Order: sequence, then C-alpha cells, then structure tokens
Amino acid sequence: MHIQANYSLLPHNTFQIDVKTQYYIEINRQSDILTLRTDLKLASLPWRIIGGGSNLLLTHDLEGVTIRCTFKKITVVKEDEDNIWISVGAGVAWHDLVTYTVKNGWWGLENLALIPGTVGAAPVQNIGAYGTEAQDRITLVDTLNIYDGQRRRFRPSECQFGYRTSIFKQEFINKLLVYRVNFRLKKSHAGKANLVYEPLKIALEAYKKNDLTPKILYDTIIKIREERIPDPSKAGNAGSFFKNPVIDTEYFEKLLESHPKMLHHKMLDGKYKIPAAWLIEQAGWKGELRGHAAVSNQHALFLINLGGATGSEIETLAQMIQEDVNHKFGIYLEPEVIIL
Ligand SMILES: Cc1cc2nc3c(=O)[nH]c(=O)nc-3n(C[C@H](O)[C@H](O)[C@H](O)COP(=O)(O)OP(=O)(O)OC[C@H]3O[C@@H](n4cnc5c(N)ncnc54)[C@H](O)[C@@H]3O)c2cc1C
Repeated sequence: MHIQANYSLLPHNTFQIDVKTQYYIEINRQSDILTLRTDLKLASLPWRIIGGGSNLLLTHDLEGVTIRCTFKKITVVKEDEDNIWISVGAGVAWHDLVTYTVKNGWWGLENLALIPGTVGAAPVQNIGAYGTEAQDRITLVDTLNIYDGQRRRFRPSECQFGYRTSIFKQEFINKLLVYRVNFRLKKSHAGKANLVYEPLKIALEAYKKNDLTPKILYDTIIKIREERIPDPSKAGNAGSFFKNPVIDTEYFEKLLESHPKMLHHKMLDGKYKIPAAWLIEQAGWKGELRGHAAVSNQHALFLINLGGATGSEIETLAQMIQEDVNHKFGIYLEPEVIIL
C-alpha cells in the first residue's frame, strides 16, 4: 500500500480540476483499512472515498485522507439454465464490466454501456440510463467500514435504492467502502430487450425483437451516447449536473398553463418528472459561458470545463442556473453531482 502525500487528484476527476488531497491511498485488500487505522496520524484525519471521480466537483484542496478501491477481480459465483451470478471488484471500470458481460452474451447491463466510473460507485449512485438502473441487476453489495474495517453485506432490500441514490450515498457516505458487488444476469433473454427509451426503440426498429442481442443494444447505445454526451476527455464534465425534478400534479397543471410545451413524464405515483435540461434551455442557459466554465452547447444538463476552470467557477455557474430556474419556474434543481 502506497501512501502519497500532497497528491493531485487531476487524473481522478472527469471535470479535470487540479486540486490536491493531503493523503491519497489505494485500497486493494480488505485488510488494508485495518492496517491504515493503526497509523495514529492518518486515523486522526477525516477520510473520504472516491472512485473514478466522474460524479464529483472538487472545489478546493482536500484535507485528510482520500481512499480509492482498486480491487478488480471478477468471478462467476454460480449459474443455472437461465441466469448467471457474478461478483465484481469495486475497482473495475464500469464500462469494462458492461463490455465483459456483453462479450459473454449475458443480458442485463447492456443499456448501461459507456457510463464512466467504477463498479464500486454503481450501487452508491444507483446509476441508470435508457430505462435500466443498477438496482435491477444487483444482488449483493459487500462493504468495509472505513473506521474499523468491519465487513457488512447488503441485500438489495437493505440498500434503499432510489433515483441516483442509495443508503451508501446517504447514511453511509464516506463511512462504508463498497469493495465488491454481485449481479444477476440473464443467459438468454430473447424478445425481452429493454427498449423503453424511445430513441433506442426507433434506432432498433429494423430488428425483430427476438433477433436483438446484448451486443446490438450495446453498440447502439454507445453510438447514441457518443452523439449526445460531451466526451469528458475533450471537455471536462461529470455527466448530468442536476437531477430531473419531480413535481406534484397540482403544480404541474399550473405550470402547464404558462408553459404549454413543457416536456414532462408522468410517473407511476401520479407526479411529473420534468427534464432539467429543458428547464435550463428554456431559461436561456444552453451554451452560456462564465469564465472558464460553460453550459454545454450539445446538452444543457452538462456543465463543462473549457480548460483551466476551478471547481468554484463551475459551482458558481451551477448556482446561477439554480437561482434563475427557480425564479422562472419555481422549481429547485438539485445537483446530481457531489460537490466537495
Ligand atoms: C460523461 C458522463 C456521462 C455520465 N452518464 C451517466 C449516466 O448515464 N447515468 C448515471 O447514472 N451516471 C452518469 N454519469 C455519472 C457517473 O458516471 C456515475 O455517477 C458513476 O457511478 C460515478 O462513479 P465514480 O467511480 O466515478 O464515482 P465518484 O464520482 O468518484 O464518486 C461518486 C460517489 O460515490 C462514492 N463512491 C465511489 N466509489 C465508492 C466505493 N467504492 N465505495 C463507497 N463509495 C464510493 C463517492 O464517495 C461519491 O460519493 C456520467 C458521468 C459522465 C462524466
């Protein structure tokens, strides 16, 4: 285990912000936490966990210890005629896992192709895209308490999964390190591809549902994402900056009177989800620049680093958008990105 002092997190955040952490340590074995905790100096400092830094906005140098799980083993736990259960180390890159499952012809994760970040963060965030969420496939989450090294295993019913959230992002944030996640995948899923996302359905119109394979969905999703989503290696970003707000029926109907073309999605509980990108665009922020930070021209939900932006510059832009959208629509946009 290598303890690095005064370490730049530039390679570990997709916003490409150059801030330093007092100490940086990669955790590769379950016993590493206990070993580190015997160091009284390290133990006296605040600790935090990062993965690939693709959902973080770093606004200042970080005091204390930043740990990252680099455990990368993938094993098949069991299988039956229809299903296969795999166990995956938290340090595996999420897209590499999706590629691995698709190459094996297993169904379940294909709609989540090309999401940056690590497997360890997938249950924390309950990542989702194109009608699928990590919770649909997760069967177990193994964690380590970063204060005493104790192991705790969570079943899905204990994870409090919600829209881009879970117990690991709420009660146990920076307390439990996810070091392994188990998934159940389907060996055969003929005719059951998840096509709830309309543009995906349209892109695959030429296929009979029974002819679809995980690879066809995977390739199509990669193509759609490459066309729509700003590439963080070219323009630093952390994906959707805000969550899509949910409003109640009464307020939705009132807003619809003044904004009859408002995009919306009716949810099962009768409430309405409004695309945050639509609100930001209508408020006139798409393509706007403030210093080295901007709202992407490609997709209004993405704030981007034009080069050399500080985290505070991006945070200020986010706050201006929040205030303006609130003023114009009476809706508060909650950040999806974690601001440190
Ligand atoms: C271009 C782009 C597109 C994106 N598209 C999507 C999308 O379609 N859908 C989607 O859901 N997200 C998307 N995201 C957001 C991001 O990829 C996910 O939230 C991802 O899960 C973050 O993983 P990470 O490893 O980078 O975590 P980080 O950003 O490093 O951390 C995120 C949170 O997870 C915690 N965490 C990380 N690893 C662990 C661990 N091992 N144990 C405990 N806690 C941990 C951190 O403490 C932090 O609170 C996108 C981001 C980008 C840049």
